[in-house]
Amino acid sequence: MKYKEIKPTLEIKLDKISSNYNLLHERVGSDVVCSIAVKADAYGLGAVKVVPRLYKQGCREFYVAYADEAFAIEKVLPADATIFVLHGVYGSGGDEFIDKGFIPVLNSIDDIEYWSEKAKIHGKKLPVSIHIDTGMNRLGLSINDFSDIKESLSSFDVKYVMSHLACSEDISHPKNVEQLEKFRYAIDALGVKAPISFANSGGVFLGKDYHFNQVRPGAAIYGINPIEGKTNPMESVVSLKIPILQLRDVKKGETVGYGAKYLVESTTKLATISVGYADGFLRYLLDRGNLYFKGQKCPIVGRVSMDTIVVDVGHLDALEPKVGDMVEVLGNNQTVDDLGKKSGTIGYEILTSLGNRYKRIYSG
Ligand SMILES: *Cc1c(COP(=O)(O)O)cnc(C)c1O
Repeated sequence: MKYKEIKPTLEIKLDKISSNYNLLHERVGSDVVCSIAVKADAYGLGAVKVVPRLYKQGCREFYVAYADEAFAIEKVLPADATIFVLHGVYGSGGDEFIDKGFIPVLNSIDDIEYWSEKAKIHGKKLPVSIHIDTGMNRLGLSINDFSDIKESLSSFDVKYVMSHLACSEDISHPKNVEQLEKFRYAIDALGVKAPISFANSGGVFLGKDYHFNQVRPGAAIYGINPIEGKTNPMESVVSLKIPILQLRDVKKGETVGYGAKYLVESTTKLATISVGYADGFLRYLLDRGNLYFKGQKCPIVGRVSMDTIVVDVGHLDALEPKVGDMVEVLGNNQTVDDLGKKSGTIGYEILTSLGNRYKRIYSG
């Protein structure tokens, strides 16, 4: 037998990221800033590759979660790009954060007091965004906090007043309008003259009222459907193909994998694929998922192991599956959202869990 040098391959289509950016940008119009969330290493797809492409496409404002993520992408961005740090001043460390021009999102009274002290020390107004909570109850100031911060706010050059939607992927969810109204009220109450930022991916598709001056989509750029239950307007960005390591004939009564959870019901052929839960392929998929061989569905049988899963290819003899042949995990037959649903989660978690054991190809 000849061994083929074939590795699990994750293809990231940068041209699709470009077209998704164009679609979002067109959707909001040229008077709205289309910034992009590139936190968590651009949702697992590799920020240092994705970010320069977005810049080339016209994107100038980027959101990360941690200060360290800002330092990582700053290296691949020209000086006219702006990086916002959602976790604000946490981990901002020394003055390098300020020297680089990173903009912290200030989420609490403590953040604001700490950063206004910094501004005093530096003897200048520091650029910041102010985050108001309108119903997520996760991060951000409450309206009740406003009276305590009025004075400190004068230490800042406020780039945006922002809030974050909880249910934006569900167009008909009453919480969207509730948050919009609460946000409008809060903007007035805060009384800071600054541009406004509200919409994530779903928010872009909720309509003009939600766009304000800047939108901050993430998921949609990476091909995740921003509108639940509707046809995905975004183009798929990733394809994941995994080689077959071994093929085996099994008889009725045999079992497959850890815990002997799968009982073979009639003679068939199994293929062992070199991907497992260490690669983001969730163990929950037992008896639920499928992979695709030459476009044909093959059911996952038995438990997902750390580095392998087994699929039934007994019905695909005519396609002659061979060791080294590629099986599709994500691609035309199975989207990130499809796999998320089958795994009991969402596309976001599939992408950010993919791990680093694939050969990554950045195409387009
Ligand atoms: C992650 C995040 C976004 C992007 O959200 P998507 O649903 O991926 O579009 C925008 N704003 C904030 C505050 C976030 O945390």
